[in-house]
Amino acid sequence: MPTESGYRRQLYRDDAVVLRVQKLGESDRIITLLTRRNGRLRAVARGVRRTNSRFGARLEPFGHIDLQLAGSPEGVGSSLHSVSQVEAVALYGKQFLTDYPRYTAASAIAETAERLTPIEREPSLRLFQLTLGALKALAAGEHAGPLVLDAYLLRAMATAGWAPATSECAVCGTPGQHAAFSVPAGGAVCPDCRPPGAAHPSPATLGLMSALTAGDWQVADASEPPVRRECSGLVAAHLQWHMERALRSLPLVDRRESS
Ligand SMILES: [Zn+2]
Repeated sequence: MPTESGYRRQLYRDDAVVLRVQKLGESDRIITLLTRRNGRLRAVARGVRRTNSRFGARLEPFGHIDLQLAGSPEGVGSSLHSVSQVEAVALYGKQFLTDYPRYTAASAIAETAERLTPIEREPSLRLFQLTLGALKALAAGEHAGPLVLDAYLLRAMATAGWAPATSECAVCGTPGQHAAFSVPAGGAVCPDCRPPGAAHPSPATLGLMSALTAGDWQVADASEPPVRRECSGLVAAHLQWHMERALRSLPLVDRRESS
């Protein structure tokens, strides 16, 4: 595929989760993708807003797609990639269109994935797997949406190296379930290390946080709504502490859903 500048653009395949879609001009879109092998990147999809586009429906947010991109995976030249082929693997977005609580959770997942990959084309296989797994779990509906979101946030923070400590003291590392929780200290803290102003969540709340981190869904699914709310509050506070800017989508998450 020769380009305007005369050199051949490299074609490559990857699979990806669609994180975000923006309009570009009359009929194009810019798609923000988290790819399996090439990290986060943005690509132009030409003509997808025309009604007869083959691509349009496959490039909606939250979908898992298999695609062919034109451009350099090494990032030579600064031009955007362009999407030359796309196949749907699983279009999870469809299932959130009529389910506002799940839609808001999916939006917070996608925004977190984008924020945790500040550098384009830096592979992050673990984050890709977590993001895909979370959207799949959200679509399957086996667990409450807010629980799937919080499990995702805890594990995504772990890939960034700042997950809250839940099964040992964040400061001295003494193992065990500690009663106090301090965001600045890094999570649960023992009585010796507890800084002033540490929170004292219910033991069940820290138990839920531990279960979500470990993927113990039996414990997580059995948790009570007040425990879930307290856990979500601590997870959100921990996330905000480490991010330069607050997530836009997190305050919009509908947590009334209890099924
Ligand atoms: Zn300690």
